[in-house]
Amino acid sequence: MKQEQNFERELPSGYRQAKYINAKNAKFGLLFNLIALLVFALVMVVAVLLLRGKGDFSFAEDVFMNDYYFLALLVFCIVMVGYVVLHELVHGIAYKALTGEKLTFGISWSCAFCGVPHIYTYRRTAMISVVAPFAVFTLLFLPLLILFYFISPMCFLFCAAIFGLHVGGCSGDLYVLALFLFRFRDKRTLMRDTGPEQYFCVPQE
Ligand SMILES: [Zn+2]
Repeated sequence: MKQEQNFERELPSGYRQAKYINAKNAKFGLLFNLIALLVFALVMVVAVLLLRGKGDFSFAEDVFMNDYYFLALLVFCIVMVGYVVLHELVHGIAYKALTGEKLTFGISWSCAFCGVPHIYTYRRTAMISVVAPFAVFTLLFLPLLILFYFISPMCFLFCAAIFGLHVGGCSGDLYVLALFLFRFRDKRTLMRDTGPEQYFCVPQE
C-alpha cells in the first residue's frame, strides 16, 4: 500500500470531529498516571506471589543481599530511561514507515510523546502506530521474565518492575486502541495525532 493512501493532508469535506483527547489535560494526565501506577503495583504483586509460589524466596537474601543488587539497580535505571526513548521511537518508526511524514517528539509533565501533527491518518495506520510499542516491548519482555523467573529472583523482580511500568505506561495508547476497537470501527475514521493530543474525525452520515 502506498504511504499516501494511509493518510490525508487536509480533513476531507463531510468529516466532523467526534472526539478529542489531550494527555496534557490535568484530569486526563492524572487519571492515566494513576492507572499506570495501579497497573505497576498489580504486576509487582503478581510477581512477588509467583516467586513466593516457588517456595524458596526471601526478599532479604535473594534481592537486597545479592552481590549484584546495586549493579541491577543501575541497569534498571538505565533501561527505564532507554525504554521511554525507545517506546516513542517505535511509535515514530511506525508513523514514518506508514506515512513518510515529519514527526514530532516531546515530553510533558504527564507523558513522553510522539506524533505526526500535520496530517490525518486513517484508522489502520493510527492503530498500528499507537499499539506498536505495546506489542514490541511486551513480546520482548515476556520471554525475559520467564527466563529470569527460573534463574534469578532479583533479575525477575527488576524485569517485572520494567514490565509493569511498560504496561502501565501504555495505558494511554491502549485507551486510544480501545476507542478504535469499540467506538470508531469505520475504517474511514481519521486521527490527527499531535503527540499529547488526538483528534478523531468521522464521515458525517
Ligand atoms: Zn506510547
